[in-house]
Amino acid sequence: MATQQRKAKVDIKSEITSEPRMTRSRKKRQLAKQDANHQQPKIAISVKKESSPEENNSELSHPSKPKYKRVSKKSSGLTEQRTGKTARQSEAKSRDQKVKIKESLNIVATADKKPKSKKVKQEERPNSQGTSDEMAGFVVKGGKFVGAHTSAAGGLWNAVSGALEIKGRAFALFLKSQRQWKAKPLEEDVVDKFQSALNTSGYHPDFILPHGSYLLNCGSPNPETLEKSRACLLDEVQRCQRLGLNRYNFHPGSTCGDIPVDECLDLIGESINTVLNETSQVTIVVENMSCQGNTVGGKFEELKGIIDRVKDKSRIGVCLDTCHAFAAGYDLSTEDGYKKMTDEFDKLVGFHYLKGVHLNDSKGKVGCHLDRHENIGKGFIGLDGFRRLMNDKRFDGIPMILETPPGLTDAEEIELLYDMVD
Ligand SMILES: [Zn+2]
Ligand SMILES: [Zn+2]
Repeated sequence: MATQQRKAKVDIKSEITSEPRMTRSRKKRQLAKQDANHQQPKIAISVKKESSPEENNSELSHPSKPKYKRVSKKSSGLTEQRTGKTARQSEAKSRDQKVKIKESLNIVATADKKPKSKKVKQEERPNSQGTSDEMAGFVVKGGKFVGAHTSAAGGLWNAVSGALEIKGRAFALFLKSQRQWKAKPLEEDVVDKFQSALNTSGYHPDFILPHGSYLLNCGSPNPETLEKSRACLLDEVQRCQRLGLNRYNFHPGSTCGDIPVDECLDLIGESINTVLNETSQVTIVVENMSCQGNTVGGKFEELKGIIDRVKDKSRIGVCLDTCHAFAAGYDLSTEDGYKKMTDEFDKLVGFHYLKGVHLNDSKGKVGCHLDRHENIGKGFIGLDGFRRLMNDKRFDGIPMILETPPGLTDAEEIELLYDMVD
């Protein structure tokens, strides 16, 4: 079987100290079998560069918090065997949804200068009851909500259609340029269009994980940077709140080599407490890091240290980035290493704090401390590492976001990951 796909992939660079990049690209490529044990059909992929990061000043990202009860075995089992027909139906559905979003956005844009606010009503959404076997019209297999970081270039609502295009059952986005401290306030019109797109597509906020600015260092020893970071953190969480989102993911920070880790964690804890006091509804989701440079949050003890310092435990969570964990020394490529990592995570952090996952393979070896994302199965974690995760019920019911480079399209990687579910 050969399918052709066009894909715009968002390239995420997640090292806090480096200049982040957000690119969408598309280039032609042939994909062969991924794994002898796990037969993948040959797929002809078309991936092409679409725009540069410089054009994407309105790129955004974010997180949220899930209250989803996982899919019953029965319902997921029924839908596991996807036929060519169901795949085609799914594609047609995705196209229909995109058209609907465009139509509804046109209506919003032309109706009035002050369009009626289409507040997101829980009851209009699939999964609002907390049990469902689909998201945005796509089959959710094994209780896993896999999607990718999609581009919000041209408007936040475009991240929603981008997610539909790749059949994401979840998605991430930047809420404003991830490389600028300031951005113009969120306009009512943008809020309306975004919420309208969510309503039309059927994405539930529990499965949208916005990503915070790369500039943030909420544990900075530099008072000026700390102040700017705290203002930016507050602004971004407020944006989530206005958009009706319920989680926000960010990188905890760095000591810059100037203060002890504990002091840095104190500052991060204070930053989060202040923002939580001034906002409501949004859970702040701290991402584990790769131990690159002076970044904190690479060790699960440090994530625990942050949670311990946060007063409102109901609005703090953690996002587990597989590449970062591997680079930090957690060897999820082996059975033993995977067990060790998840046991330690459960003991120190607790799976009840897990509000999202970033699915990335690693270009670097275990413990390399380098934050270099690779396509699923093409790095040192390998397919078996992801197969374990995709069959681990502790990862059910949360957004699982790809942040992988061009090479495989997001749509292909999503399919590849779902194919791993037993
Ligand atoms: Zn990140
Ligand atoms: Zn990440």
